[in-house]
Amino acid sequence: MDRKIREMLDKLREAAQSVGDNAERGAKYAGKKAGEIWDAGKLGVRVLELKCDISSLQEELGRLVYGIHRGRDTGDAEVEKLITALDEKAAELADAQKKLRRMRGRKVCPACESLCGSDDAFCKRCGAHLKAEER
Ligand SMILES: [Zn+2]
Repeated sequence: MDRKIREMLDKLREAAQSVGDNAERGAKYAGKKAGEIWDAGKLGVRVLELKCDISSLQEELGRLVYGIHRGRDTGDAEVEKLITALDEKAAELADAQKKLRRMRGRKVCPACESLCGSDDAFCKRCGAHLKAEER
């Protein structure tokens, strides 16, 4: 378990580094301010943290459900609590990922959430009109 957590943290650090590098490159290209580079880096780390949280919540939920299967008397409230926490994290993750894509200069279709090019006027997938980026 300890080793797993350490590996996860190493991966997190590496990924944060590369997110930062990519954000910097992207921002240089788009001529953005330093503050925005930093925001994208922070958001990238948040995305990874959320993914990490979600997988440990899922693990916990799995253990709980298996315990119930084995006849352990765990209240429904405990399961409910984990599911609620998972829903919240998943929603935050989706939001953070969307913001991150926008920061990297991509458009997200308002209708189907497809990732589109920054110069696209219409969604490639569903044809919805893509409005100019609101920032
Ligand atoms: Zn679409």
